[in-house]
Amino acid sequence: MPFDDFVGNGLMVQAVRSQLASGRLPHSILFAGIAGVGKWTLAQYVAKALNCNQRQNDFCNDCTICRRISEDVHPDVKNVAPDGQFIKIDQMRSLSREVFFKPFEGRRRIFIIDEAERFRDESANSILKTLEEPPDTSILILVTSRPNDLLPTIRSRCQTYRFAPLSAEEIARLLQGRASCQPEDRRLLARIACGSLGKALALDAQEYRAQRDEMFSLLEACSRNFLYANALRAASSWLDKRKLVEFEAKTGILFTLLRDLFLLKSGAKANALTHTDTLGRLTPLAAAYSFGQLSKATRSLDHLEAGARRNLNRSLAADQFILSLAGTC
Ligand SMILES: [Zn+2]
Repeated sequence: MPFDDFVGNGLMVQAVRSQLASGRLPHSILFAGIAGVGKWTLAQYVAKALNCNQRQNDFCNDCTICRRISEDVHPDVKNVAPDGQFIKIDQMRSLSREVFFKPFEGRRRIFIIDEAERFRDESANSILKTLEEPPDTSILILVTSRPNDLLPTIRSRCQTYRFAPLSAEEIARLLQGRASCQPEDRRLLARIACGSLGKALALDAQEYRAQRDEMFSLLEACSRNFLYANALRAASSWLDKRKLVEFEAKTGILFTLLRDLFLLKSGAKANALTHTDTLGRLTPLAAAYSFGQLSKATRSLDHLEAGARRNLNRSLAADQFILSLAGTC
């Protein structure tokens, strides 16, 4: 039953389960996919299924073994995370020793290395041999949201399982069990989380709506009855140099609003939109802007975002964005 509770990536989970059942689960595994899709959770499920003594090829999540794995106090299941910024060579040296210990009380020893993209080259090199030939009693699971940052020599020694982003319906289903928010907030969070439950849980629906309102005001100020001073006023909080985190969040919202306007103009149905709950504000904007204006504005926004990351002057790029939207350049 607990494996059935895993939401998303059904075919891949099924493949892992069949390999568990046939005893053919590889001993060096890489779980790759965006943050917040359940990679670490599935690694825990595998550790439990390999050790729970209540269920065969599954786990009960209730026996002392399962509970101790959940609490990270089981001697045969070791979770490794970066020590500071990196996974250090000392951590990998001790892991390479421990991999060869016999299980203390379970059937298999499992080593779950989270944020595996944070290996220093020397620590990655130090576990190559371990990944190449781990003993039958141990399984190593590397977890990463940035598989391309891993050395090819690490990747080639692991069987990679790629996790796809979750659908909005899957995220809404998961939020139902976890977040104590209103159904309309759950639907909004599920749509804006870009396939990541982790992102949906980290977002505050109320704060998101306030930021989106601000970005709507900016888009509206740049459309009908355009006055440069009004548009600048609407953009002032977004461009405030002291609010970099908010700037990034609001820029992300602007990108999704522009995308929705493109979709609306192309005749897409409301359920294809991210901001389907604000159709009343999107529709007049879609009518007011041409494809050319939206396309130029998206390019300016790309430029603005890239420049902000390099600490370039934001107001110049923002001017370009405003004038592209207003159709005056
Ligand atoms: Zn159990």
